[in-house]
Amino acid sequence: MTNRTGSCLCGARRYEIEGDLDGVWMCHCSLCRKASGSVGNAILIVPKERLRWLSGADHGETYALRPTYTITRCRTCGTPLPAEEDDMNVYVTAGTLDEPLGAGIRTHLFCASRADWDRDAADVRHFEERSR
Ligand SMILES: [Zn+2]
Ligand SMILES: [Zn+2]
Repeated sequence: MTNRTGSCLCGARRYEIEGDLDGVWMCHCSLCRKASGSVGNAILIVPKERLRWLSGADHGETYALRPTYTITRCRTCGTPLPAEEDDMNVYVTAGTLDEPLGAGIRTHLFCASRADWDRDAADVRHFEERSR
């Protein structure tokens, strides 16, 4: 069993997830596109008892569009973390992981809402340099 850590861009909010995760849920709904400013939210569904805040647990600002759609951001850097939670799970934004996950995207949600530019055509350029 592996523990993984994650953090927001500025490092104020840091967490640890206990145990392995079986993949990423990728939500393409229009709300997740706006909330992320990107293709949507990439989510790790983590049982609450397996997520531990290492720092900054109280350094988030939660925006509730409606009771069933909230997103919490770091007060300093604005990184969305976590996306949402329900009674049993926290929906951790997968992009905040510090290390490789060891699993890929498991599920795509609301694919009919996908942005028309969210495509990877054969002629798309890829630049392979790494960044930190
Ligand atoms: Zn931050
Ligand atoms: Zn969504």
